[in-house]
Amino acid sequence: RQLRLRGLVGRACVTRDRVAIDLLANLELPEDVELATANGAGGVGLYRTEFLYMNRRDLPDEEEHLANYAEIVAGLGGIPVTIRTLDLGVEKRIDTASEPAPGVSNPALGLRAIRLCLKEPDLFRPQLRAILRAGAIGPVRLMLPLVSSVHEVDTVLALIRQIKAQLDRDGLQYDPNLPIGAMIEVPAAALCARALARRLDFLSIGTNDLIQYTLAIDRLDDGVNYLFDPTHPAILRLVRMTIEAARDLKRPVSMCGEMAGDPRFTRLLLGIGLREFSMQPGAILDVKEVVLQADTRDLERRTAALFARLDDTDPGALIDELNAA
Ligand code: PEP
Ligand code: MG
Repeated sequence: RQLRLRGLVGRACVTRDRVAIDLLANLELPEDVELATANGAGGVGLYRTEFLYMNRRDLPDEEEHLANYAEIVAGLGGIPVTIRTLDLGVEKRIDTASEPAPGVSNPALGLRAIRLCLKEPDLFRPQLRAILRAGAIGPVRLMLPLVSSVHEVDTVLALIRQIKAQLDRDGLQYDPNLPIGAMIEVPAAALCARALARRLDFLSIGTNDLIQYTLAIDRLDDGVNYLFDPTHPAILRLVRMTIEAARDLKRPVSMCGEMAGDPRFTRLLLGIGLREFSMQPGAILDVKEVVLQADTRDLERRTAALFARLDDTDPGALIDELNAA
């Protein structure tokens, strides 16, 4: 089986009805670049930058960010990389801030990710400058984590305008048209996907957090992980809502949560209209195998029927039906 999967690396990723599907890699560390290219990733849909901040006392400066991003861009040899800005939170702590502040009883609902970055521009600015500058070296996109309101996006866009003016004054090269997108990983963002898409160049659905926040399940709490369910009707509806909003506004939309890398859900997601999947590099060929056998028109028709039965039938059973034929 492994051998057969390896044989898929060079094959164009298109469905039976000739629809091109992008299979991208998620990177946690620069070393993962090799695995991504070895598995034929079409790009990097999520580069997590938290490691740059971990296990140290000081903060990375602009040059350190840039050196790292330049290395990634070079290693990818021309395929695009989506760099996610700092997403520090309960599950990814900086050593120097490892304990929740007194009075913070729900760190997952607290000052993390984009919220922390907007509160601490000194933390955010060097990273934004470096990502913009990396865009002058190769194809780079910038992605914001944990967005929950259009106000946050408007604030970041204003900040980026300022930074571009500053880069001009500094005489530094950057990509003036660098695509800026947001993760859809909070129910509020999915419900407002249209307004977010209007302001942004792309969206990417982060199901790991979307499930946590929609179903009120701490993703780190073993006591409730049996409830962590990507097929919950509420999740499927939010995913569909996001994909439809992006499609209506002609914005690319991907999924970069674990759900995207699970071949049990590939046919379902194709049926909902997803065309861009980002996953741990090791999952790419398993998903590709399903994509090559799929027919999007057939799946779209059957997925619409599946949604109509969502309230009356176990979604798991509906997905098994979709996968059986
Ligand atoms: C997600 O929440 O689905 C996601 C991709 O981000 P992370 O797992 O890094 O929180
Ligand atoms: Mg997340």
